[in-house]
Amino acid sequence: MADENQEDAAEMTPVSPENLGVDHDSSAKIAGEGINSPSAAEVSSPIVSVAAPPPPPAAPGSKFCPACGTGIVATAAICPNCGTSVGQPKSKTTAILLAVFLTFWTWLYTYKKDAWKFWVGLVANILTLGIASIIVWPWAIIDAAIKNDDYYQQFPNG
Ligand SMILES: [Zn+2]
Repeated sequence: MADENQEDAAEMTPVSPENLGVDHDSSAKIAGEGINSPSAAEVSSPIVSVAAPPPPPAAPGSKFCPACGTGIVATAAICPNCGTSVGQPKSKTTAILLAVFLTFWTWLYTYKKDAWKFWVGLVANILTLGIASIIVWPWAIIDAAIKNDDYYQQFPNG
């Protein structure tokens, strides 16, 4: 095949000295304007095709992204397709129980919104060797309890 093209090229292409020196096979014909380029042979090499990423698997018991409708694994915090936060809603009951048993640690549960409370509680307890819990503890419980359900339902996950 290469031999045939080589002969054709030799017969049909007006041969310049340059052309002869650089290209002696079919790449001269294929590359066209790249005739004088030493890399003409490289240009005509096959282009590596990029494989398309596989579609995200739709797991059983999955939920759907509210933004783009893609099926997502139920435990996922972010839609793999569009990046929308689709985390599980927080539970008010959990937050209150955490406050009852762990005082200010409940604010780790809702850290995205209550970070400052967590740190105030932590630092205050360290500085007072735990005595601050007298104040922080009821504060944590009340704080968790007075938030309305929407606060937990629409908590920014992810
Ligand atoms: Zn999405």
